[in-house]
Amino acid sequence: DDPLSVVAHGGEREVETALRPRKLAEFVGQPRVREQLHLVLESARKRGVPPDHVLLSGPPGLGKTSMAMIIAAELDTAIRITSGPALEKAGDLAAMLSNLTEGDVLFIDEIHRIARPAEEMLYLAMEDFRVDVVVGKGPGATSIPLEIAPFTLVGATTRSGALTGPLRDRFGFTGQMEFYSAPELEQVLRRSASLLGIELEDKGRSEIARRSRGTPRIANRLLRRVRDYAEVRADGRATLEVVRAALEVYDVDELGLDRLDRAVLGALVRSFGGGPVGVSTLAVAVGEEPATVEEVCEPYLVRAGMLARTPRGRVATPAAWEHLGLQAPADSVG
Ligand code: ADP
Repeated sequence: DDPLSVVAHGGEREVETALRPRKLAEFVGQPRVREQLHLVLESARKRGVPPDHVLLSGPPGLGKTSMAMIIAAELDTAIRITSGPALEKAGDLAAMLSNLTEGDVLFIDEIHRIARPAEEMLYLAMEDFRVDVVVGKGPGATSIPLEIAPFTLVGATTRSGALTGPLRDRFGFTGQMEFYSAPELEQVLRRSASLLGIELEDKGRSEIARRSRGTPRIANRLLRRVRDYAEVRADGRATLEVVRAALEVYDVDELGLDRLDRAVLGALVRSFGGGPVGVSTLAVAVGEEPATVEEVCEPYLVRAGMLARTPRGRVATPAAWEHLGLQAPADSVG
């Protein structure tokens, strides 16, 4: 998986994979999570045991999957990857677990979406490295205990609040991934541009960083769109002007808000007078799933100071009104 040959021949997904940091040292930002993880991993290594189970929590694109892969790389073990929605039946999970070898990392993405029977099986697996496989149905059903190799579970979730208590309690450590600062995103972009062979000028780079919603995946995606624009409409160099023109084509505004972000703010302000309004009502108004609005849009709108979550519902802040070019009503929250 040499990045440059992937760049020449691969599709978008392959390029994203090629841009993944491989080592803890290559992982930009998240100093707190990195330090915490370093301690967990080092101490387990010293004691010669697999580290405690790790939960990584935060909005999409902040590096949870990359971090899981890095954990396996640092431990020098294999990683098996699955996701909550893929584990519909307990049997799906049992098959996964019985294939693990000692010390493996099992990565379950979107772990909050795991089906109930699989989740219950996971409790025992996490605690005792054992599962009970039920054979047969009805009164004649028996459960056969099955030993599994000691492993480390790494779970990722965009909604740690949606995890059941018993599942959350079985993780030894939760890493809360934060949005990235503009300088951190510049560092990500510098590396990506060099891997992809894109000539990205300093001012162009900081403009992309500033408008990437604090998210490395978005920074890398915008970089690729800027490259397209630079190749087709300019001489290939990503200057500040080229970056601005490209982001205009792709509907990314001055603050980095995309079409859906603006639709949510627009509906909140224009249809509901700035709120408070429930997230499901807001989602229907913009034709999106409530989960997408809640897990993808809102975290950044909150962080950007545009939206507040109150017990009575979502509320637009004066900054949101202003961003949409409207006058905030006198009684709106500050
Ligand atoms: P998540 O699992 O949280 O959705 P990923 O780990 O899939 O996020 O990250 C998405 C992409 O963003 C990766 O392919 C990688 O290119 C980039 N990325 C994420 N975090 C970092 C980081 N800390 N440093 C450099 N690139 C990163």
